[in-house]
Amino acid sequence: MKLTRRGLLPLLGIPALEFLPLSRTAEKPAPEPLRTRLMLGGDVMLSRHVGRLARAHHDPAFPLRDLSPVLQPADIAFVNLESPFSDRGPIVERGMVFKAEPAMVAALETAGVDVVSTANNHARDQGARGVEFTLDWLRGHGIAVAGTGKSEEEAHAGTVLERNGIRFGFLAYTYDQSNGNHADVDGRIAVMDLDRMREDVVRLATRADAIVVSMHAGREYSPKPNPQQVAFARAAINAGASVAVGHHPHVIQPWEHYGSGVIFYSLGNLVFDQFQRVDTQRGALAEVIFEGPKLVESKLLSVELVGTAPRLTGESKPFAEVSKRAAAR
Ligand SMILES: [Zn+2]
Repeated sequence: MKLTRRGLLPLLGIPALEFLPLSRTAEKPAPEPLRTRLMLGGDVMLSRHVGRLARAHHDPAFPLRDLSPVLQPADIAFVNLESPFSDRGPIVERGMVFKAEPAMVAALETAGVDVVSTANNHARDQGARGVEFTLDWLRGHGIAVAGTGKSEEEAHAGTVLERNGIRFGFLAYTYDQSNGNHADVDGRIAVMDLDRMREDVVRLATRADAIVVSMHAGREYSPKPNPQQVAFARAAINAGASVAVGHHPHVIQPWEHYGSGVIFYSLGNLVFDQFQRVDTQRGALAEVIFEGPKLVESKLLSVELVGTAPRLTGESKPFAEVSKRAAAR
C-alpha cells in the first residue's frame, strides 16, 4: 500500500494541514539548474596543406583527431570554418582561395563539432554555389551553421541548439566577405553592422535562452583587438548575448568579462597551415559553462598546432584579460 505523507499524518493524530507547506518543500526541493558546457575554437581551415596531410594519412578526420577527446564530450562544440566545401574543380593545394574537399567534413564530425560559423572572408572562395554547397553539406552531416544562409534573412536569423532544456542561439558575422575577390555583396553572408546585429540578437532572444555571437574580425597577427572588434563584441553583450567569440587574427588576443557576459577577442588558429610564425601555431579553446541559461564560468585552454593538428598543451598559461581602458584604445 502506498501512503502519501498527507494520508499518513491523520493516522498519527497530527493535523495534516499545518504541515502541508513544510512537507511540500521537503518533498520537492528546487531542482539544481543543469550545467551545460560549451567549447569554442578559432579558425579551422581544411584546405591546402591541411588537406594534403590528411590525404597522406588516409584520414580526412586527421586534423581534429587528437583534439576529439576534448571537443567530443562538450555539450556544444563550436569553431569558425574558414574554408568552404566544394565537390567541383581540382584539389586546392596552395594559394589564398580555399576549397575543402567534401570528405574533410569527417574532421568536424569526428571531433563532435555541433555548430560552425561560416561568416568569414573566405566564405565566397568557391563562389555563390560554394556558399550553398557548404551549407547543405554541413547540415547533411548534422552540423548547424551560423552566419550564412540560403537567404539574407536566414543568415541573420541564427541557429538554435537545445541542450539540457536550454535553447542556445548562435549568430555569426564577418568584417569582410570577399577577400578582394568579389566587388558585389552577397546578402547570404552576414557582415558586421552594429544596428543589424543588435536587431538580430533581440529577435533571436525570442527563441533562445542564451546567445553566442561569433565575430570574424581584427587585424591579422595583431596581439590586440582593434576598435571595431571591441565595439561589436561589447554591443553584442549589451544587446543580450552572453558570449562574444572572435577569430581571424590567427593569433590569440585578450579576453574580458564585460557586463554579464564574456568576450574572447581572438582564439587564434585551431587548424591551419601557417608555419611561418610561432604564434600562429598556438591557439586557445574557450570553455564556457552555463547553469540553466546563466553564464557561470569561463576559461581558456591552450592548444598547440603540431603539423596543423591541434593538441592541448596541458600548460595553464595565464591568458591576458584585457582591462577595459586598454581594450577601448
Ligand atoms: Zn579570416
